[in-house]
Amino acid sequence: MKEELLFCPLGGSGEIGMNMNLFAYGKPREQKWIIVDIGVTFADDTVPGIDLIYPDPGFIVDKKDDLLGIVLTHAHEDHIGAIAHIWPKLNCKIYATPFTAVLIIEKFKEKKIDITPFINVVQLNSTLELSPFKIEFITLTHSILEPNGLRIQTPAGNILHTGDWKVDPNPLIGGDINEKRLREIGQDGVLAMICDSTNVFSEGKSGSEGDVRKSLMNIMSRLKKRIIVTSFASNVARMETIFHCAKQTGRNISLVGRSMHRIFKAARKCGYLKDIIDPIDPKEAKNLSREKIVYLCTGSQGEPLGAMMRIAKFTHPDVLIEKGDAVIFSSKIIPGNEKKLYKLHNQLVKEGLEVISEENEFVHVSGHPNREDLKEMYDWIKPNCIIPVHGEHRHMIEHINFAKEMQVPETVLVENGDIVKLYPGKKPEVYDRAPSGKLFVDGSISVDEDFKSIKERKNLSSNGFLDVTILINSEGSLHDRPILTFVGLPVLENDEFKFGLEEEIDKTVKTFSLNNKKQENNIIDTIRVVCKKYSKEKTGKKPITNVNLVKI
Ligand SMILES: [Zn+2]
Ligand SMILES: [Zn+2]
Repeated sequence: MKEELLFCPLGGSGEIGMNMNLFAYGKPREQKWIIVDIGVTFADDTVPGIDLIYPDPGFIVDKKDDLLGIVLTHAHEDHIGAIAHIWPKLNCKIYATPFTAVLIIEKFKEKKIDITPFINVVQLNSTLELSPFKIEFITLTHSILEPNGLRIQTPAGNILHTGDWKVDPNPLIGGDINEKRLREIGQDGVLAMICDSTNVFSEGKSGSEGDVRKSLMNIMSRLKKRIIVTSFASNVARMETIFHCAKQTGRNISLVGRSMHRIFKAARKCGYLKDIIDPIDPKEAKNLSREKIVYLCTGSQGEPLGAMMRIAKFTHPDVLIEKGDAVIFSSKIIPGNEKKLYKLHNQLVKEGLEVISEENEFVHVSGHPNREDLKEMYDWIKPNCIIPVHGEHRHMIEHINFAKEMQVPETVLVENGDIVKLYPGKKPEVYDRAPSGKLFVDGSISVDEDFKSIKERKNLSSNGFLDVTILINSEGSLHDRPILTFVGLPVLENDEFKFGLEEEIDKTVKTFSLNNKKQENNIIDTIRVVCKKYSKEKTGKKPITNVNLVKI
């Protein structure tokens, strides 16, 4: 039988987030596998009590004896966030460039795992042998340090897996996009390019960190009082820009928020951010006059516990704001976060602060390729086939149309779990399905999306809870009144609701012989139905109801 080259996304295709991709090469049933990226998605309010979601790795866990390792393109959470959750099931080598490696080691430390023996640090623009694969890391530009595209060489042909990227002519920090190497790779021939679709609806070019710096410099020069800047901590170029602007405007800078400090340290450790002023402690900054300080803080998406929200609510211990100060949101308003963010903006302007965001000034550029960036990459790589990933379905279909417009010979539309045969065959196509799904991090345990705890909490959060305990004495009659506990119902402890419910229960109980053991389950079920019905009638709510029969 012939060797095959396969691609299978387990996450990130049909959604923006939780990227996880598999590649395989070899004869059927003898294939060797690699994982590229292993990320999370942040849950929204529709799943109460859940913060993180990641791809169900079951399919590759079953093949772990044939797994050569995990290769990481860059350190954004949607590419590395699930690694400490999934790795214990795989126990394989991890390959990453220095900055990504530092952040990963920390993730495992939080889980009390020393991962260092399993991490292989790969230098920028170097090649890794994972026979039968040869994987070359190519420096691209994005919104984090060390974004790498991967050329995956196999005896059947080469793949370019772009990871996240854009063409930034002036990224300020880290390497430039390695255009020369990308062109050479294109000349060698690329069987398929697996490519970022995030900004496929955006015309023109994605823009440059260099231009954002110029604009922020102008803005910060005209501001007179305190300046609070909030942005994604992982965007180290932006961080350096704020340091630069602080210095140029004669201000000190102070970092606020855990991830800001974490990324700052990791970047320094890897040799970045060397030529900047030293940040001062926010406690020290409190003693400075308002026109002498810039705070750079987390919480740019209005996260309830983020530094920015706490500052706006005057609950942050170290940062005080006053009328006349300015807040710069140097970040994207991520779709879905508008409500939270506008609430935060409102809070600030009501206090008399100036709010500057991408809505009214040029303070942000995206890290993903707009259509002109895509065109350029297509031009360099000239792929035989485009497989869009890193997008919702609408992005990926638009990306397919775009590729066709660009005369790319083949396109394949995938969703999570699709197995694409890139070789052999007339053309690459989906030929099989792998089991796929999502796991929710519930407390410290990962569960299926339709697991009991998830369903119950959704139910609890909208309907509330009622607990009924009925005491039966030795003669088989009711002892005292039932004990009622309710949570999340729109009634008070001493409301009529409670007395009415007691009466209903009393009436129901009297229709049963309480001494008859065989009837116990029947009684419990009947009371549950009666209570739910009564509650629905009186309050409009049908609570989760638990009934206990206690013999005393
Ligand atoms: Zn991403
Ligand atoms: Zn990214």
